[in-house]
Amino acid sequence: MNIIHAYAAQNENSPLAPFSYQPRQLRDHDVQIEILFCGVCHSDLHQARNEWHNTVFPVVPGHEIVGRVTATGSRCSRFTVGDLVGVGCMVDSCRSCPDCQEGLEQYCENGFVATYNGTDRFDGKTTFGGYASDIVVHEDFVLRVPAHLDLAGVAPLLCAGITTYSPLKHWKVGPGKKVGIVGLGGLGHMGVKIAHAMGAKVVLFTTSPSKVADGKRLGADEVVISKDAEQMAQHTNSFDFILNTVAATHDLTPFINLLKRDGNMTLVGVPEHDHPAPSVASLIFKRRSVSGSLIGGIAGTQEMLDFCGQHNITSDIELIDIAQINEAYERMLKSDVKYRFVIDINTLRDHAAA
Ligand code: NAP
Ligand code: ZN
Ligand code: ZN
Repeated sequence: MNIIHAYAAQNENSPLAPFSYQPRQLRDHDVQIEILFCGVCHSDLHQARNEWHNTVFPVVPGHEIVGRVTATGSRCSRFTVGDLVGVGCMVDSCRSCPDCQEGLEQYCENGFVATYNGTDRFDGKTTFGGYASDIVVHEDFVLRVPAHLDLAGVAPLLCAGITTYSPLKHWKVGPGKKVGIVGLGGLGHMGVKIAHAMGAKVVLFTTSPSKVADGKRLGADEVVISKDAEQMAQHTNSFDFILNTVAATHDLTPFINLLKRDGNMTLVGVPEHDHPAPSVASLIFKRRSVSGSLIGGIAGTQEMLDFCGQHNITSDIELIDIAQINEAYERMLKSDVKYRFVIDINTLRDHAAA
C-alpha cells in the first residue's frame, strides 16, 4: 500500500506531530487494517516522553486499535476484507516458548513484539502504532471485535480492558469476593466495570473526590477517598483482591493493610520511578502478597472482547481530533480524563488530505 499517515514524537521533549512512513509489503499472513479509532493509554505518554528509558524515536504510539480490514496476505485464513478487527499491545511473539504455547504471549521468553516501539522479528525495523491511518499486522495478533458495540468505546478494551480483565480472572474474582480497584483512570474504570460484571462487590479507591458519583455509576458499590485515613481504616483486613492501576509512585502499605489473610494486591501501573518498598510486617502477618500483571494473551484478549460483547461493556470515552493529542496528554497527567481519550482517526486522514 501507499504511505501511512501518522502522528509521532521525534524525541522525548517534542510534542506529537504529523509523520508518515512506508509500510512493509504484505507478508503471507498479514492483515492490512484501515484504523477507525485508537485509544490513548498512559503507556503512550510514558513512552513518547521516554519515561521508561527505552524509546526508539521517532515513536508512533497507540495500541488500542479498532479498524476495518482492507487487504490480506496470500495465506491469511482468518480474516477477509471488510471485517471489523482490533489490535492491542502485541503484534508478534516467538510462538514456540512455553509461555507462547500456553497462550501467554505477553510473557514470551524471547520477548513479544510490541505494537509500537517494538522490533520486527524479520526485518528488524521499529514498529509503529495506532495513531495512524493504517497498520499491517500478522493475523495471529488480530482480534475480532463485537460489532454491536460502539466501536470508539471498544478501542480501549484492547489495552485497558485486557490489562484489568486478565488479573481479575487470574485471581478468581466473582460472586462473594470483595474487590478493590485503585485509581479511576482508563484502566481503573474498566476494572470497575469488569469486576462488577463478574459479580464481585467492588470498592473504588480514588484520590479525586470529584469522581465519587462516577465511580458508583460505573459499577462500584462503594467509593473510598484513599487519602482519608479514617475511610481507609474502615476496610482493614477485608479485601480478597485489590487491583492497583495508579500511574504514579505511591505508598502501597495502606492498601496492603486492607487485604484479608492470603489476600493479594496486583500492580498494573508502571510509574516512571518505583514505589517505596512496602511494609514487610504487613505482608508477613497475614500471608498477604503483592504481584504484577502484564496485559493479557491473545486468547484471553478475545475472551475479554466476547465477555464485553455479552455484557455490553465499553469504555466511557472522550472522542478527540488527532490535533488535540498533546492537550490530551497534559490532561491525562492531571488525572482529568473521563475516562479514556479516543482518537477519531478520520480526523488524521482529513488533516493529511488538506
Ligand atoms: P490514567 O488514565 O492516567 O489513570 C491513572 C489513574 O491513577 C488516575 O486517573 C488517578 O486516579 C490515579 N493517579 C494518578 N496520579 C496519582 C497519584 N499521584 N497518586 C494516586 N493516584 C494517582 O492511566 P491508565 O492509562 O489507566 O494507566 C495506568 C498505568 O497503568 C500507567 O502507568 C500505564 O502505563 C500502566 N499500564 C500498564 C499495563 C500493564 O500491562 N501492566 C497496561 C496498560 C497500562 P484517581 O483520580 O481516581 O486517583
Ligand atoms: Zn496501554
Ligand atoms: Zn515465546
